Amino acid sequence: MPGPGTTSVHGPDDGERRSGPVNTPVERATTYRFENTDALVDASHAGRGFYTRYGHANFEPVEARFAALHGAEGAVLFASGMAAVAAVVQAFCRAGDRVAVMADVYGGTRALLDHMVERGELVLDVVPFDALDALEERLHGTRVFFAETPTNPSLRLVDVPRVAAACKATETLLVVDGTFAGPTQLRPLPLGADLVLESATKQLAGHSDVMGGLLAGSAEHVAALANARRLYGAVPDPETAWLIERGMKTLDVRARRQAETAGRVARWLDGHDAVLEVRYPGLEVHPQHALLERLGAGPGAMLSFRVTGGGDGARRVIDALELIANAPSLGGVESLASLPRFTSHAHLTPEERTALGVTDDLVRLSVGLEDADDLIDDLDRALRAPAT
Ligand SMILES: *Cc1c(COP(=O)(O)O)cnc(C)c1O
Repeated sequence: MPGPGTTSVHGPDDGERRSGPVNTPVERATTYRFENTDALVDASHAGRGFYTRYGHANFEPVEARFAALHGAEGAVLFASGMAAVAAVVQAFCRAGDRVAVMADVYGGTRALLDHMVERGELVLDVVPFDALDALEERLHGTRVFFAETPTNPSLRLVDVPRVAAACKATETLLVVDGTFAGPTQLRPLPLGADLVLESATKQLAGHSDVMGGLLAGSAEHVAALANARRLYGAVPDPETAWLIERGMKTLDVRARRQAETAGRVARWLDGHDAVLEVRYPGLEVHPQHALLERLGAGPGAMLSFRVTGGGDGARRVIDALELIANAPSLGGVESLASLPRFTSHAHLTPEERTALGVTDDLVRLSVGLEDADDLIDDLDRALRAPAT
């Protein structure tokens, strides 16, 4: 089995392409012509080279890479991460089904599930992080459990094997959103998850220029998801899929370098007198540092830290950054900082934010590919910025 670097560049070696262009050509066709009707019927069943909403030659290299990196039988590419979240419900839930979700999930995931509850489509159980230890009792009769690790922006880790055991015992489908880690840093499927979900918009494509979403799992689950994509139509454009494929070729090397830099920045921040607390799973002081090793996971490129001076202090720091952009999103080649209370968690009340560890003095940082020393210089200057 080739390593993650080789798989990122080449995809799984299926022996299919031994000659021709080194890159997948962009196939700008929505429909295909056939010698005869038998050939047309075969193509329609195969879901390729027929009509783009059924599957496309530029989706396949992305899906094959994602599946191989995650050790899955297959994967399905969607137009966005949110389209992938929606597809789980479209493929596996019936009207009125009970769904459970971690309280710490991505804001968009929670908003979509709340929306479905309002429309009477689902019944939702929101599970606080501390309740994950006693999950089995509350999962009875639940169709799907949406987990996410590491969490945003608290960088808490989910004990995936433990959650998977509770899901297995209650026949609940476990979906793990691993966007914050990526497939080279965390593989939830061998740990017991049924499906792994990632927003390709973030580190997979990695250049803050395209949107996409992916789900990987068993062949049976993948077939149901591909059917949902065909029915609901959340397909990307071939050009977009091509850009995701190109981004994925450098995924492993980017993820390694970003994690290494994030480690250096986190250790530096940890010693700074204007920093109250640093949350980064790779730091020995992280309360779940041992779990990271048990999961066989890498520390990732995301960290968050609390600064002195409360909400005003955090605002001052982020506004004083010059190299690091004040922007939402994550996983790109450029480092991005944000104040979660104004971005991912703006829709929550201050009490709800506090319960999730999202205090006003918290700064989230997505570490890019710049040199660690330059990021540290920028942070050092910003942390010294005087109050005006
Ligand atoms: C961004 C994100 C999503 C949604 O993905 P989009 O591509 O923006 O639709 C889902 N989960 C997590 C953890 C994310 O960061």
